[in-house]
Amino acid sequence: MPDDSMPKTRTAQGFATRMSHAGRAGTHVHGFVNPAVHRGSTVLHPNCEARRDGAKHRFEQFMTYGTQGGPTHYALEDVVAEIEGGTRCLIVGTGLAAVAVPLMAYLKSGDHCLMPDSVYGPARNLCETLLKGWGVETTFYDPTVGEAGMRALIRPNTRVVYTESPGSHTFEMQDVPAIARAAHAAGAPGDIKVLMDNTWGIHHFQPFAHGVDVSIQALTKYVGGHSDVLLGSVTVNSDADWQAVRATASLLGQFASPDDAWLALRGVRTMAVRLKRQEQSGLEVARWFATRPEVLRVMHPALPSHPQHDLWRRDFTGACSLFGVVFQPRYRIEDVMRFIDSLSLFGIGASWGGFESLALPTTGFITRTAGTGDFGGPMARIHIGLEEPADLIADLEQGLRRLEG
Ligand SMILES: *Cc1c(COP(=O)(O)O)cnc(C)c1O
Repeated sequence: MPDDSMPKTRTAQGFATRMSHAGRAGTHVHGFVNPAVHRGSTVLHPNCEARRDGAKHRFEQFMTYGTQGGPTHYALEDVVAEIEGGTRCLIVGTGLAAVAVPLMAYLKSGDHCLMPDSVYGPARNLCETLLKGWGVETTFYDPTVGEAGMRALIRPNTRVVYTESPGSHTFEMQDVPAIARAAHAAGAPGDIKVLMDNTWGIHHFQPFAHGVDVSIQALTKYVGGHSDVLLGSVTVNSDADWQAVRATASLLGQFASPDDAWLALRGVRTMAVRLKRQEQSGLEVARWFATRPEVLRVMHPALPSHPQHDLWRRDFTGACSLFGVVFQPRYRIEDVMRFIDSLSLFGIGASWGGFESLALPTTGFITRTAGTGDFGGPMARIHIGLEEPADLIADLEQGLRRLEG
């Protein structure tokens, strides 16, 4: 496993070091170790002239009104920009809002959007409902498409090429640099924006070093880390993209609670340690699943058996602890549900990235339109938390016996 001090990051310091120190500049903390929670709608100005001048510094971490964010948000924005290697970050209320804001910033009536077929379900829904109603057409493409394949999908009115690697629930790895090359070579510079949902990659994938223009994360997952906060981030690497996404978020009245930003800041200080442990535990459980006769295959990009493992090796410095399991085709999804119901250490629920393990049946709950949607057998998604892997495996082992009915 490559370590986190590899030169894919923008400073020589290790990830854990940067996560301890980012977002703690003097203006954020006033001498304390941690930024305070600044709650407020009204921001007072010393005089009318100062208020008028303040409007010129809109979106520049200068406070004119509560909806523009405050010091707690700015501290978290600095940390997430550091995680992803971008210049600026915008904090919004949920991961889904972080998906919606850049799509709305770059798409208008008559435009065409390209979405991977394995995209996070609610992002698909947004395209098929609101964006469709507003005259934006979306094509769902095979996530494993290469540079030539992407070139063939791009139309004169394509404005957004969206990526998510690995894909939600089915974990296909995308060749993001090749897709970005094809997108950027078509049309004039800046015509087509490459967006990426980098929630799975977190810091293991550096989006801007691989051709992405705008990176989206659900901070709800590992950054929050404790299953008690909902937040999203939109990170950019150019001033033009910053203005575009910031203005759209402002138009939509997007805002996140400073209390939640503070919880995310608390979460991020321990994220490097949690991620490392959860990566190791996740791999241990994934490898165990792969040895089981009940299992057809394990969908984990860091396993050499994964069909696009080479892309993960090339572009990622590590993995998180979310993966999929395909059971033998002799089982039905009802058998998998009985297996999951019998587990005592795995919660049954959406979201992931917390300290606790989760299991979810996925067959019948996901939509695929570009591919067959047949992955060989009934599927489950597994999230590994901070428990002892041996205890988790013992629980899973007793659960597998329930597969047979
Ligand atoms: C959870 C998730 C989101 C949405 O995050 P919320 O904060 O729950 O809205 C977006 N993308 C991916 C890949 C996710 O797993």
